[in-house]
Order: sequence, then structure tokens, then C-alpha cells
Amino acid sequence: PIRVRIAPSPTGDPHVGTAYIGLLNYIYARQRDGKFVLRIEDTDRTRFVPTSEQMIFDSLRWLGLTWDEGPDVGGPHGPYRQSERTEIYREHANILLANGTAYRCFCTAEELEAVRKQQTAAKLPPRYPGTCRLLTPEQIAANEAANKPFVIRLAVPPRANDSTASTTFRDELRGDITFDHNNVDDQVLMKSDGFPTYHLANVVDDHLMQITDVIRAEEWISSTPKHVLLYKAFGWQLPRFWHMPLLRNLDKSKISKRKNPVSLIYYRDSGYLPEAIINFLGLMGGGMPADINGGTEQFTLAEMVEHFVFTNIRLGGPVFDLTKLKWLNGEYLRKLTPDQFYAELRKTVLSDAYLSHIAPLIQTRIETLAQFGDLTSFFFRDDVLPSQEVFLPKKRTLEETIAFATDQLAVLEATDWTHEALEPALKKLGEEKSWSVKENFMLLRAIITGSTMSPPLLESMIVFGKARSLDRVRRFLD
Ligand code: ATP
Ligand code: GLU
Repeated sequence: PIRVRIAPSPTGDPHVGTAYIGLLNYIYARQRDGKFVLRIEDTDRTRFVPTSEQMIFDSLRWLGLTWDEGPDVGGPHGPYRQSERTEIYREHANILLANGTAYRCFCTAEELEAVRKQQTAAKLPPRYPGTCRLLTPEQIAANEAANKPFVIRLAVPPRANDSTASTTFRDELRGDITFDHNNVDDQVLMKSDGFPTYHLANVVDDHLMQITDVIRAEEWISSTPKHVLLYKAFGWQLPRFWHMPLLRNLDKSKISKRKNPVSLIYYRDSGYLPEAIINFLGLMGGGMPADINGGTEQFTLAEMVEHFVFTNIRLGGPVFDLTKLKWLNGEYLRKLTPDQFYAELRKTVLSDAYLSHIAPLIQTRIETLAQFGDLTSFFFRDDVLPSQEVFLPKKRTLEETIAFATDQLAVLEATDWTHEALEPALKKLGEEKSWSVKENFMLLRAIITGSTMSPPLLESMIVFGKARSLDRVRRFLD
């Protein structure tokens, strides 16, 4: 039986790339009577964002990409959250230590840094030189007795100085791909904190969860030789690998939030219909026959399951063209009956939840209820773009203003979307850059609300949402 999975990491807002890869996995499973598994890869504790997992569930469900097994629905191969599987990874790392395909590395951060500097100076790619491969059992025992922290590394065969070794694997879209072992690092498998790295956890789980087809983004191709070596080290059968072309910005660079909104939350909150997003993502890469529905480029998820051909996927990077997505979304809006259209408004931009959060922000600021609209229009507009000149604080040049707004964006991106977190973070930035609180908040107010007068700024931003607020700052800077 066919089993596929997506394995997002809860590091922030769910990414359109996750929806795109999720869609492809979903179609692949449904076409073959297979199972679609959702696994949460939360072993990188430094990038972990607690609210992210729930947002991943919500946004994939919103898109209609339902999974058969996962952390919230269970299944026979759980747990489906990697942080609950650390014992499994430890056992598996021990298997590799015992059979000689992995080794303990006691090198300190300073030692590794020194090597890296030498390699950079010699214009060599950063690579672990294999120092700890040569430790004798006595030296290892002594280090362990001294409680020296260690990581566990993959022993890429043969030793680093043999230039002939390589790993070849088949990619279902590209054919055979070969990596010279000189370009494959002795990857860390277990970190000193006892957590596995992506590579070990991913391979162990794909095996234990009986995944038959790994369908993921092209950016993981360079990890695949490490994974293949791991499968071999365990003596396990390989899954099939399918690496999908990356979504691109208009300029063909990998899609990035600097040039396109990449948060699914942004699209949901901005009033894109899930059917339109799914249709749009289905157009990426050319797996759908062009003549479906008279060449209108419009089709449903069910039609994708019926007609999508994986081997027709083109490898040239599909362009994520927001103008086209907007057009498509408009097409979907026009297809709705008036009642359906009204229902969509009430689910999103005119939902009770949204309105009831906005109302208290203006209650003390209006004299007639009709003034509600005057003070809150920015909550209901797609764009309020103030021109950079109009909102220049009096004593600042355009360059200074743009530089400061760029700093504000970085702070906002990195800060929890709560009043308690946002206020000190923004004030600290102002102090560092010698912008008064008034200038600081006035600039942000102009960017978010399009005006120098508004309900309380931070509360407004919280109700408006992180994804859309950040988008306004990015559009201002663009
Ligand atoms: P960035 O650093 O540009 O924000 P990222 O790669 O760090 O992007 P992740 O949150 O790691 O973003 O990506 C989430 C998922 O989406 C991953 O599975 C990743 O492979 C996939 N992904 C990221 N970018 C793309 C893309 N351009 N096309 C397709 N899939 C992508
Ligand atoms: N956790 C990885 C991600 O963020 C999984 C990549 C894979 O599918 O192997 O996408």
C-alpha cells in the first residue's frame, strides 16, 4: 500500500510551500488508495514556535487537505510528533554506533570554528574533517568518563580522503543523481542536547511509518545522499524519492516573504478562497493536462485527483504569480451565488469574531455608531499604502525612514504578537536608533492604518493579525 507524508516543522506561520507539497502528497495518496500522513518535525528547539502546530492543522484543513494519520487524529504508527519519539531516535543512533556507521564526536564549538575558518580561508566548503573518527575505544571511554558533551555523526564511507566514493539514488522526476562523498559531510545525527537532527529523525520515521514515496521540495535533494546512506547503514529498503520544483518569485528566485506573502494565514485572512489557492497550486509545475475544463485553468481538488499526472511535472521553477492568483480568486468569487458570497464574507472579513474584536477599540472614540466606518476602514481594506514621503516624520529623511521601517519589520517578524511583547520590543529599537516613541509609533501607525490618526496601534495590529500587518510593512518598503 502506498503511504506518503508531509513533515512540516512548527517554526512559524504555515508556509505556502507546505500547502503545495501537501497538495501533491494528498493527490498522490488519493489516486492510489494510499494513506496520507502528517508528521510534525519539532526537534529543532531553537526555532520552535508553540502556536505554529495548530496553525498548520487549521490551514491544511481549511484547504481541504485532510490526512489519515497525524498527531491530532492518531493512527497505527504514532506518535506523529517527533518530540515524543526521542527514545526511538536514541535507540536507533545506538544501533549505528554499534555497527560502526556512526561515531561520537567530542569536538568543541571552538575547535569546529577554527577548522571552519581555515576552510573558509582556503576557499573550501565547510566540512567536518573527521577528527573523532580516529579516536580509540580508550579515548572515547575517557571522554565519556569525563562527561564531555558529544554529538553522534554519520561516518560517510569510505574515509574522507578517498576521492572515489559516491552515492547514487533515483529521483522519479530526474533519474539517477550521484553525489561524490567529498561533498557529503559527516552529518550530525544526534545533538548534544539528546535531540536528533532532521536527517536521523526523518529517515527513522519514514521507515517506521512505512512511507513508500517521499514527495518533497527540491531543496532537499542535497540531503538525500545522507538519507540514502542512513537507510543503508540500517539495512533498510529505500522509499521512492520525488523532488518537486520550488515555487519561485517573479524574478525566479525561491519564493520568499520579501517578494510574496508566504504565510497561509495571510491568504486566509485576506479573503482568498481555499478552492482558488488549491487550484492555483495545482497549476504549478504542469501536472494537470492543459485542456481540462476547456483550457480555463480552473479545476477542483477532486478533478486534480482524477487527472493529475506526476510524471508530467516540469522541472523549470513554477512562478508564484500573485496577480494570477488574484484573478483566479476573483473567478471563484464570481461563481458563488449571492447567498454563498455573503456567507464567505461572514466567515472572514465580516466575521463576528473579527468585528467583535474591532468594536471595543473605537467605542470611546465615536459619537454616532455610523462613525464606526470612518475609524475602522483600514481593517477592511486590502491595501492602505501611504506614500513614503507623506508619512516622513518631520526631522527624518526618506533614507532614515526606510532604514527604520526595515528595522521595525525585523523586530515585528521576531516578536510574539501580543501587547506585552510588542511594546517593549519596539521601544527598545527606538532607543537603539534614537527615534522617539512618538516618531516610532507614528511611522508604524501610518504604515498599518494609512493614517496618522487611528485606534490604539498595537491593539489594532493584534486584531488585524501578524501576517497581514507584516505584509503592509513589506509593501511600504517595496
Ligand atoms: P524561507 O526561509 O524562505 O522563509 P523556508 O524554506 O525556511 O523558507 P520553511 O518554513 O522551512 O521555509 O518551509 C516550509 C516547507 O515549505 C518546507 O517543507 C519547505 O521545503 C517548503 N518550501 C519552502 N520554500 C519552498 C518553495 N519555494 N517551493 C516549494 N516548497 C517550499
Ligand atoms: N521537516 C522538513 C520540512 O520542514 C521535512 C522535509 C522532508 O519532507 O523530508 O519540510
